[in-house]
Amino acid sequence: MSDHHPFLDLAPLSAARFAAIEDRVARLLDTRQDVVITQGEALLPLEGAIRATAGPGTTALNVITGPYGQTFGDWLRDCGARVHDLAVPFHTAVTAEQIGEALAEHPEIDFVSLVHAEAATGNTNPVARIGEVVRAHGALFSLDAVASVGAEPVLPDAWGVDLCVIGAQKAMGGPAGVSAVSVSERAWKRMEANPNAPRRSYLSLLDWKARWVDAGRTTLLHAPAQLEMLALEACVERIEREGLDTVMARHRAAAAGTRAGALALGGGLEPYVHAAADAAPVATTLRAPAGTVASDLVARALAVDPALPLAAGGGPLAKEMIRVNHYGRDATPGVVRGCLTALGTALAETGLDVEVAAALGAAERASTAV
Ligand SMILES: *Cc1c(COP(=O)(O)O)cnc(C)c1O
Repeated sequence: MSDHHPFLDLAPLSAARFAAIEDRVARLLDTRQDVVITQGEALLPLEGAIRATAGPGTTALNVITGPYGQTFGDWLRDCGARVHDLAVPFHTAVTAEQIGEALAEHPEIDFVSLVHAEAATGNTNPVARIGEVVRAHGALFSLDAVASVGAEPVLPDAWGVDLCVIGAQKAMGGPAGVSAVSVSERAWKRMEANPNAPRRSYLSLLDWKARWVDAGRTTLLHAPAQLEMLALEACVERIEREGLDTVMARHRAAAAGTRAGALALGGGLEPYVHAAADAAPVATTLRAPAGTVASDLVARALAVDPALPLAAGGGPLAKEMIRVNHYGRDATPGVVRGCLTALGTALAETGLDVEVAAALGAAERASTAV
């Protein structure tokens, strides 16, 4: 037909191709666990994993280092789990020692939920060390790695993560409409023993276990999100071509450059996350100078260049937090320079003294030093 449309007139996505995409995602995570690609944004496997594993018999440690941790705690409580929240200020990271103390205080904890990096707050947590502590205690370990995958190592097997959820829309530079979860044998067993785990439901991971994984991955449960699956495949291919290490190095450099550049810019702009070691490579959050409003500065900076990945913090953070979302295709020196220059303009318009040239120099030196 002459009016063939590249998005609309697609051949069906075969089960074999679907399985091959899952295998490529598994290689990206260096995992031998089952990887299930879920047909929705990452909140689907995040909620599915919690509802499948938690019930009235569960005692959960819910670590809150940003807005997502709050949501996961709500789901856990909704499942009937007893929940111990461990909240740390959003300008820091949680430590393995804090997790160890919480586990010692409540030895009955059998489920730990952690967010690896938080794009919304700009912090990242030391999962490798936390994993050791959780493993020694014996609890099931669930990790939201949506904002870390592609920006920093995510290694579920090496770290003892039982449920590792990823999405492609941040550092992977891919689509938001499908996501993936790696599931350990222990986690499958916990779900199978849970009478409340969703079954015959869109939220159900057990459906995929029974009718896809255990059935040899020959028949899909329902029509897949074909366009999003093709976009995920293309995005993983592009990461493989560039090299995952190179992609992660771009993010590290962008984060280091933005942080150093913001400090050198002056005008009272500061990194929101106090310690550089706690700052996520995926995105850098900044504290708006006293007397300014972050959302106003962001609006002024976007007037300079609307394509820059700048945003104000969500909800109550909109007044004080500026987010530089230098992830995916935006993890480049050019985007970092553009953001610093535009923020310099915004601060200068507000009457503050800034040194844009110094900021660009500091960004360049910090980026090349990582
Ligand atoms: C971005 C993100 C998600 C996915 O949420 P969206 O806002 O829909 O992209 C989940 N968890 C974390 C930690 C994230 O940063």
